Amino acid sequence: MKVSEHIQKAEKTLISFEILPPLKGKTINSIYDHLDPLMEFKPSFINVTYHRSETMFKKKTDGTFEKVEVRKRPGTVGICAAIMNHYQVDAVPHLICGGFTKRETEDALIDLNFLGIDNVLVLRGDAAKNESSFEPEPDGNRYALDLLKQVVNLNHGVYIEDDIKNGSKTNFCIGVAGYPEKHFEAPNLDTDLMFLKAKVEAGAEYITTQMFFDNQKFFEFAKACKENGIEVPIIPGLKPISSKKQLSLLPKVFHVDLPTDLSSAIMKCKNDDEVEKVGTEWLIHQSKELKKAGVPVLHYYTLGKPKVIWNVVKEIV
Ligand code: FAD
Repeated sequence: MKVSEHIQKAEKTLISFEILPPLKGKTINSIYDHLDPLMEFKPSFINVTYHRSETMFKKKTDGTFEKVEVRKRPGTVGICAAIMNHYQVDAVPHLICGGFTKRETEDALIDLNFLGIDNVLVLRGDAAKNESSFEPEPDGNRYALDLLKQVVNLNHGVYIEDDIKNGSKTNFCIGVAGYPEKHFEAPNLDTDLMFLKAKVEAGAEYITTQMFFDNQKFFEFAKACKENGIEVPIIPGLKPISSKKQLSLLPKVFHVDLPTDLSSAIMKCKNDDEVEKVGTEWLIHQSKELKKAGVPVLHYYTLGKPKVIWNVVKEIV
């Protein structure tokens, strides 16, 4: 079932989870081990992130280096199919522009369609590690909006090869990303919202947000969306803090602020076990307040921390 249908039919705030594909070399059981304890909360859907290749230099026996492209976390499409089959729960694969041509994306969409997966979250992706700013593939999509238009085209039976007449139509429900604290490259929130609105007008049916630790920022973002004519459901993305190093890592990597109350409490912790307790309490409080405000879904980035998420969600459902 589509995310949009889950939301329309819901009588209360839903729960969803997000996972990363395991590093290459691991089995699908690492995904099941991660998700098994969380399934008691009956998530409506599970998102699986998408990852591009990275350029690496491998030392050869003669001492010189060979440049290789390595995709460390492949398997998103297969994992989504496995999750749907194993748990009978809907899976939402992420799709990104970065590192993929439009043709590769079309092939992935055809695979998803054949597998009965009718949800996608479309994203641009970040710059490759060896690039200072995002560069699309020569025949790739530049913005999430372009990727979204490609999916919408396929939903209308329009394929890249224009000699495909009466192509079968896919039926993807499309989600996009939104940033309560603004995307880091956007000159200001208004401009970011203008591009977010363009994604919604082009066919996005809901927005999932970047993580945030101050609910007020989410509420202000939701209000600003409404004032700008963005009416689709907005799903808050939530992440637990469980280590001291995240104090500087999260702002650096995700461009989000931590409220002073939270950062002060974490700084007082003697070790990461204490940080995990503070992070868990904080996330429980955030979740309860968001639920009370009537958000459609609480979406948890589980990212290697299923136990913490379990401790939070058991207090919410
Ligand atoms: P876009 O919507 O394309 O926006 C990117 C920037 O360009 C913004 O600053 C925007 O304001 C601007 N912009 C947009 N359209 C235009 C235009 N037409 N002209 C000029 N400027 C424009 N990354 C991954 O690699 N894999 C994942 O699985 C993944 N999952 C994510 C899930 C969520 C919920 C979120 C919030 C992020 C995720 N990311 C993922 C990270 C995401 O790819 C990055 O944040 C990326 O930098 C931006 O992606 P976007 O889809 O928001 O881009």
